[in-house]
Amino acid sequence: MRRHSVPIALGVLLAAAAIAAGPSLLGASSPAGAVAQATATPRAGGDPSASGGIAGSAPGVAGGGAQTAAVLPVHGRPPLPTAPSPSTLTGYVWPLPRGRITNGFGPNYYGDNFVDGVRFHDGLDIATFCGDRIGAAHAGVVLAVGRKVDPWMGWIGSLAPSVTRRDKYNLWGELPIVIVIDDGNGYRSIYAHFSQTVVKVGQVVRAGQFIGYEGRTGYATGCHLHYGLFSPYATDRFGLRPDVVKRTKLPAFEIARINPLLVLPPRPAPGTKSPSPNPSSAPSPSPST
Ligand SMILES: [Zn+2]
Repeated sequence: MRRHSVPIALGVLLAAAAIAAGPSLLGASSPAGAVAQATATPRAGGDPSASGGIAGSAPGVAGGGAQTAAVLPVHGRPPLPTAPSPSTLTGYVWPLPRGRITNGFGPNYYGDNFVDGVRFHDGLDIATFCGDRIGAAHAGVVLAVGRKVDPWMGWIGSLAPSVTRRDKYNLWGELPIVIVIDDGNGYRSIYAHFSQTVVKVGQVVRAGQFIGYEGRTGYATGCHLHYGLFSPYATDRFGLRPDVVKRTKLPAFEIARINPLLVLPPRPAPGTKSPSPNPSSAPSPSPST
C-alpha cells in the first residue's frame, strides 16, 4: 500500500486507548534479534509509544537519532524493551485463504520503502476478487478502522505536517481504507485497501473472523489485500521513499515490518484444491473453468 496522511487531533485519546489495549502476552525476555530480518538502521530508543498516537508529539526522531518522546505506560506497566521473535508467534491464518500472492514482502521496485538502499515492499499483497470476504489473520482487538489510521501504523516522527496537508487540500479520500488490529502478542496486523469494513474500534475478533470486503481503495491497481505485520516494540526501522516523504509530508521512517510468511501457515501446493466450505455442493469443474 501507499502511505499518505494521518490524523492527529482525534488521535491522541484514541491512541492512548490503543496503546493501553496493547500487547498482553509479551515476555520480557523475548529475543529481538530476528525481528527485522530485512536489516534496517536501528532507531533511537525502543519506545513503543512512538508507534502510537503520540507519534505526532515526537518530532525530530527520524531526523537526527534524537530520543523518542516520553514513554507511556501500558496500563501501568513499563513498556517492554524488545519485540518478541516472530518464531514465537502462533495462531495466524491466511486472511484470504484462497488468495494469490501478487506482491511479496521484500526488495521490490514498486515498494514505497527503502531498506538498505533498495526499494522495498513492507507487506504481502494477496488477491482473489473484488468484494471477497477478508478474515482476521489473528485474534485480537481492533485498534483503528478507516482512513485516519496513521497514528497506529508505527510511524517514527511527527504526523502533524501530513495531517495539515490532508486537511488543507481535502485529500483523505484518496487513502486506502485500513484496519489495524492488536494481535495481543506484541504485534499489530495491518489490513489495507478494503472497499468496506465490518468491524469497529475496540471490537474483539478471532482468527479468521470476517472483517471487511476486498477492495482497491487508496493506491491500488486492482482489488487486493495488503497485509502488514509489525511490533511497536521493535527497534529497527524502514525508510519511506524520499519522494513520498516530500509529497505526503509523512515521517521518513516507520517501525520495521516483518515478513508475514514467517508466521502464516504453509500455503497449499499449486494445483491443490482449497478446502471447500460446502464440499457436497461443489461439482468438479472442467479444467478450463
Ligand atoms: Zn502492498
